[in-house]
Amino acid sequence: MAKGFFSLFAKNIKKSMGPGQYQANGIQVTCVHCQHDRFESGHAQLNTALATFFKLDFANRSAITLTCHRCGYIHWFNKRVNRID
Ligand SMILES: [Zn+2]
Repeated sequence: MAKGFFSLFAKNIKKSMGPGQYQANGIQVTCVHCQHDRFESGHAQLNTALATFFKLDFANRSAITLTCHRCGYIHWFNKRVNRID
């Protein structure tokens, strides 16, 4: 039973990739708070209601967020980050 549970768990990890290591501008990202090197990536909209009101679409940008898998500190990037592992 435990083995079955583990294989299901492993399958889900593989599917979602799980936390990984990332590079930004060629430099590996480490958590500024706890020095951990594994993160979960996500996207966050930078646009504001004000920008939308004035139709400043150029202001509507999305940022990459890397959330530290250990302490939860969220790192924001306005450029592409590369997953390296
Ligand atoms: Zn951390």
